[in-house]
Amino acid sequence: MAFIKINKENFFHNLSQFVHKTATKNSIGIVLKDNAYGHGLKLMAQLSQEFGLTQAVVRSYAEAQVIKPYFKHILVLGDHAIVDKQCSFTLNALEDIDTAQKGSTVELKVDTGMHRNGIAFDELKIALQRLKEKGLILKGVMTHNRSADELSSELFWQSKKFEEVKKIVKNTGYTHIRFHSFNSASALRLPCENEDFIRLGIGAYGYSELPSIYKTLALKPVLSLWANRVATRTLQKGQRVGYGGTYRAEKEMRVSTYDLGYGDGWMRSNRLKAFTTAENLTILGRVSMDYVSLESHQEQVCIFDNALDAGKQLNTISYELMTQLHPDIKRTIL
Ligand SMILES: *Cc1c(COP(=O)(O)O)cnc(C)c1O
Repeated sequence: MAFIKINKENFFHNLSQFVHKTATKNSIGIVLKDNAYGHGLKLMAQLSQEFGLTQAVVRSYAEAQVIKPYFKHILVLGDHAIVDKQCSFTLNALEDIDTAQKGSTVELKVDTGMHRNGIAFDELKIALQRLKEKGLILKGVMTHNRSADELSSELFWQSKKFEEVKKIVKNTGYTHIRFHSFNSASALRLPCENEDFIRLGIGAYGYSELPSIYKTLALKPVLSLWANRVATRTLQKGQRVGYGGTYRAEKEMRVSTYDLGYGDGWMRSNRLKAFTTAENLTILGRVSMDYVSLESHQEQVCIFDNALDAGKQLNTISYELMTQLHPDIKRTIL
């Protein structure tokens, strides 16, 4: 099977860049949802702890349970709230208050314009009232920015709306609440030292999908994807490779099969334009379930070491390319 190398030095470098902006490690919550963006949940939890982070963010309670030994506190974004001293649970809708277990710690998500999750601005007072009646412990109030990674002023009107939210919450009598709205893109664009908490995802893994004028930090990719040689043959001019024989040899050439395919989470969609690897080798013909063909006889090849560039070739974003990588692929720390 293909394998993944995790560059610890680059991960620590990226985290340091953000700590420089927040001025403390304690306000950073490393986002480890979706197998830590394909990097490996447990492994990245260990490295985060080694770096000195104390908080993490995941999607499910099942993920939280895997990483509990490594963190003081974990925010769960999408699961039912239950009583667990180490975890807080996001309330994405009023109904979540009804289904939450009495005594559980929650963070209320308010919709300030993304219109995906979160209670409406108008429901804020009702929500605060109801969760009190229900006996829930409110730890935080949060929102999510829909356009932080786009060149527009939208981030600013959403932030303004969130300021109104804060005012209402404080006026209701809550004093020890944390407020948070920053993802990586917001953290790259705006000052961070006054933020209670930052939900740091893609930036920690080395990417910014922001337009280049916002590339304020020098981030380094953490993950690289590698494949092993399985078999090599010499093709005569005119012979064709793989399913459908869509690649035709222009000349005599040495071609090897490598152990990576769409079954491993590698994208098959390189039909319009062939994918070029980190070492400038072109994938010949179609991607199979478990194999690709390259003009090479190296024992190991690096498929990509920059998910942003690789994603562009495949008409997608770094997030999608990385989260698809199969959890069974062996991940090793460099
Ligand atoms: C995934 C997620 C993040 C992290 O976003 P990045 O762009 O990867 O930094 C932050 N907040 C919420 C609510 C998320 O779902």
